[in-house]
Amino acid sequence: MRLDAAIAEATERLSQVSESPRLDAEILLCRTIDMPRSYLFAHPEDELDDLTAERFGAVLERRLGGEPMAYIMGTREFWSHELLVSPATLVPRPETELLVDLALREIPRKAEWQVLDLGTGSGAIAIAIAGERRLCRVTAVDISEGALAIARENVRALARGNIDLLHGSWTAPVRGREFNIIVANPPYVRSDDEVLLNLQHEPLTALAAGRDGLDAIRVLAAECGAILANNGVLLIEHGAEQPAAVAELLQKHGWTDICCHNDLAGLPRVTVARRGGK
Ligand code: GLN
Repeated sequence: MRLDAAIAEATERLSQVSESPRLDAEILLCRTIDMPRSYLFAHPEDELDDLTAERFGAVLERRLGGEPMAYIMGTREFWSHELLVSPATLVPRPETELLVDLALREIPRKAEWQVLDLGTGSGAIAIAIAGERRLCRVTAVDISEGALAIARENVRALARGNIDLLHGSWTAPVRGREFNIIVANPPYVRSDDEVLLNLQHEPLTALAAGRDGLDAIRVLAAECGAILANNGVLLIEHGAEQPAAVAELLQKHGWTDICCHNDLAGLPRVTVARRGGK
């Protein structure tokens, strides 16, 4: 089969599962023939041999089964870094760049701050912040050994020695320490939310957080105050329908200057709060 015909057929099939079927088809084919995308446009008449067609069919089946492109490719771009990902890590979402952006607005360029990333997953947020603020020391925590193994490889490949990775539940591995800023993209999906049906390939522990989706955020609101310096800042990503509930939780635990920010789609997705005088 010719390359252009293979793409057309794959695009048609992928349109059932993907919002970008043609792009997915092209990327999967490039990976199969180990060529850049430009090759597809320059050589549409190239013939796929049987073995290659079979290998293309196999990756196509994975995608048709709902597996995210990032797991099939093994990488995902976030904040201009090419990160390794695996089914042990959530696939970094473009919306989460808002969390990084807001954190960077808080951290002065020359600051030598202690930064904490709770539930780091692939390490995406920690690596983005550490890269933009080289004088800061970033501590990144995750409860999943599988995720930490991926984060460790990403840190080794992409960071410049200012990230420490720790294993444990939320603030447990850093009790008694003091940070200037804490960021988290915790699980926040309601455990009965239908969106989980479309996210079955990703780790449930990184997505679902109890009946109201707020179990993890409740822990953060309660625990983070004790490890923040005076005037320290907490930034939490959450669902678009959660800003009021998140603000209420934070207020209950004495946080001040609570402010929610919209993502590029105009949805309220990251709440910033401050630790008042202790
Ligand atoms: N934004 C993700 C989704 O609903 C959820 C990520 C998370 O729970 N941290 O696809």
